[in-house]
Amino acid sequence: MQPETIAQWLSGCKITRLEARLLLQYITGYTHAQLITRDNDTLPEAQKIALDQLAQRREQGEPIAYLLGTREFYGRTFQVSPAVLIPRPETEHLLEAALFRLPENGILWDMGTGSGIIAVSSALERPSATVYASDISEDALQIAQQNAAALQAKVQFAQGSWCEAATVFRLPENSVDVIASNPPYIEQHDEHLQQGDLRFEPSHALTDFADGLSHIRTIAAQTPRYLRHGGYLLLEHGYDQGAAVRQILQENGFTDVQTLPDLAGLDRVTLGQNAA
Ligand code: GLN
Repeated sequence: MQPETIAQWLSGCKITRLEARLLLQYITGYTHAQLITRDNDTLPEAQKIALDQLAQRREQGEPIAYLLGTREFYGRTFQVSPAVLIPRPETEHLLEAALFRLPENGILWDMGTGSGIIAVSSALERPSATVYASDISEDALQIAQQNAAALQAKVQFAQGSWCEAATVFRLPENSVDVIASNPPYIEQHDEHLQQGDLRFEPSHALTDFADGLSHIRTIAAQTPRYLRHGGYLLLEHGYDQGAAVRQILQENGFTDVQTLPDLAGLDRVTLGQNAA
C-alpha cells in the first residue's frame, strides 16, 4: 500500500471535507488545529486502512454520528449507537421550552429518552430538579445510562412504554411538573424513512407504524394522571402535525395549548397545561 499524507488522504476522499476531518480526528486522535499543522505527516498504515473503511461506510450512507459513536447536543458530547435515534438540533427547542417551564426544584420526566439527551441535559442545566427518564428499549436505556454516567448527570431510569414506567419510579399521581417527549411521530408510509440517515436509525424510534400520531394520542391520554395541576406536557412533532397535536391535547383536557416554531419557522413543539 502506498504511504499517504493526511493532506493526500483528504484530497482523495469522496465524502465531504468536514466529515473527512471528523473521521481523521477520530482515528488519529488529533484536534482540528493539530490536523491542519500536520497535514504533511504520513498516515500510519493501520490508520489509513481504518480511515478508508470508515469513509467507504459513510459513502454508502451510514450516518457520521454512528461511525464516530458520538453527537453533540446542547453543547455536550453524547454517545450514540444504532440502538438510538441520532440527536437532532431541533430537539434543543423542546429542551429549552421544557427547562423554561420547570421550577427550580421541580420534577421532569423525559419519556422515550433514547440516548438520554433531554434527561441528561435537563439534569445538568437544573441540578436541583429531579429528573426521570424512561424508554421501552433496554438497549437505548443502556446508552442513556452511559451518557448520564459519563456526563455526571443525576437521572433516574426505568424501562417501560410511556407512563408504564411510573410504577417503577413509584411516582405519585399529580406530582410531575414537566413531561417532555420526542416520540416516534413519522407516518408509516413517509418516504423519508427510506432516505438519508433515517435508513440506519431504529425504525421504532422514528415511526409508530401507523398515522404518526398514535404515540402522541397515548401520551396525551396517559400523562394527565401524573402531571400536577398546571404541569406541562411538551411534545416534539413533525412540521405538518401542529394542528393535529393541538387537537389531541385539547381533547385530553390540556389547556393553553400552543405550538412553538423551530429556527426554520416550522411547527416543532406543542405544549399544554394539565387542567385536572
Ligand atoms: N429523546 C430522544 C431524542 O430526542 C430519543 C427520541 C426517539 O427515539 N424518538 O433524540
